[in-house]
Amino acid sequence: MEQSDCKYIFVVGGVISGVGKGIAASSIGKILQDRGLTVTAIKIDPYVNVDAGTMNPTEHGEVFVLDDGDETDQDMGNYERFLNMDLSRVNYMTTGRVYQAVINKERNLEYGGKCVEVVPHVPLEIIDRIKKAAKNAKADVALIEVGGTVGEYQNVLFLEAARMMKIKNPRDVIFVMVSYLPIPSKVGEMKTKPTQYAVRTLNSSGIQPDVIIARSEHPLDDKRKEKLAFSCSVTPERIISAPDVSSVYDVPINFEKEKLSDTLCELLGMKCGIGGSKGEKDWKKFVANVHNGKEDVNIAVIGKYFDTGDYVLSDAYLSVIEALKYSTYALKRKPVLTWLNALDFETDPKKVKELAKYDGILVPGGFGKRGVEGKINVIRYAREHKIPYFGLCYGMQLAVIEYARNVLGLKGANTPEVDSGAPHLVIDIMEDQKDKMKKKDFGGTMRLGTYPCVLKKGTHAYGAYKSARVNERHRHRYEVNPEYISDIQEAGLVFSGVSPDGRLMEIAELPKRVHPFFLATQFHPEFKARPLDPHPLFTAFVKAALARKHK
Ligand code: GLN
Repeated sequence: MEQSDCKYIFVVGGVISGVGKGIAASSIGKILQDRGLTVTAIKIDPYVNVDAGTMNPTEHGEVFVLDDGDETDQDMGNYERFLNMDLSRVNYMTTGRVYQAVINKERNLEYGGKCVEVVPHVPLEIIDRIKKAAKNAKADVALIEVGGTVGEYQNVLFLEAARMMKIKNPRDVIFVMVSYLPIPSKVGEMKTKPTQYAVRTLNSSGIQPDVIIARSEHPLDDKRKEKLAFSCSVTPERIISAPDVSSVYDVPINFEKEKLSDTLCELLGMKCGIGGSKGEKDWKKFVANVHNGKEDVNIAVIGKYFDTGDYVLSDAYLSVIEALKYSTYALKRKPVLTWLNALDFETDPKKVKELAKYDGILVPGGFGKRGVEGKINVIRYAREHKIPYFGLCYGMQLAVIEYARNVLGLKGANTPEVDSGAPHLVIDIMEDQKDKMKKKDFGGTMRLGTYPCVLKKGTHAYGAYKSARVNERHRHRYEVNPEYISDIQEAGLVFSGVSPDGRLMEIAELPKRVHPFFLATQFHPEFKARPLDPHPLFTAFVKAALARKHK
């Protein structure tokens, strides 16, 4: 039997998707971290896309960007936030990525003339990647979240890899199944049968869950715990009641009420610290702020990736929402976010007047033409009516366009993303990007990941960061056109953050004497906001919103 330094916890989903497998995995990581263990987390996405960058955010949710520029799933953001750590591309894999690696190895003769097969070579590649990520992090425990639900075809090879790991190291590998227990409204009773079936399905892959996290609207009662235990061969103490919560940040605390970290440590034969660590105390303080905000702060978020059929989903802006929350909670206030569709301000420009009732307006990142003129109308209203404005990425580019059009008087100022024939391309594509576009080399080729930014003293940005140089994550193809920089600055917009060589404009803002808070960033600060470490620019924005509210 192989001996390994790291323990592995696979987290799989049963019955339906969307029951919070990512939050469960993040929370398990958090409670183990608080028991003194070094934790890392790995997300497996079963789709063939090499990364999440090529997927529509309305359908798949936000693309979360890591320091090294990897375009990943929003769960990577959950891990970084709950665990307060930076992850890298070794922590993320997709079917596309795994197959690409196997095929490349075959082309490089790395299989030494063998016939390369789906099994075992694909699962072996998966195992290799999991171990590499664990080693990289010098982790005591690696959490591996297998995307999708048991029983679907897409994740079969990942489950096979997990099974193979368990067979080789039975004491070092365990399985947690996050499953759903419906309470049909006409029946009025919590049903365990779908979870029983899901466990049987997992069994047919050669895997027995060690722990079941029972997600439901209400807590699991003893009767159902016993029923599940009996039919799924999992003892009742290892069935964790996980009812709906008003905040996802309650989940680690609820897991500990069920003594989950004790159970996991026991299953893995790990010694770990006693509870009550500083990490746990800080988290509890943060969660107290989540629930005890003393007044509302009303923020309007103007986006377009909301609709899926008749439902409105805000998943596409997950990190932005969480970043707003952390800063508001830290100020002991309650964030009230309203989603407004940019298109509505395009078809009816007068509608912007309705924005007067908000304490602050935020325009997040985006792509393409749809909704752009609506966003520009909103930005103009925020600027002229001195409503705190925070723009992120496209929200900065469009603020520059609005300023060029309405203050500088450059009629028809635009970005090539909307109109490549516009008379004033104040936002433009950089030379290296042009080549990529010609070659249709779209995947993973934007300006991605962390870049340094130098700040100008005396500005909002400098005041917020209290530092002359910061690092922030990017995801965009276009930049402020160097040819227009001096004209724009002369007209009053300040580029308070620039790349160290001075060529790329990273933050634009209006001076305090002109506007209480009008600031926009080319980067995405939301990717670096953490519950226990809110982002200074979001905090500055929320403070400005509070000041407006009290005026
Ligand atoms: N569409 C813009 C660009 O590609 C902005 C991207 C973004 O908001 N993430 O540059």
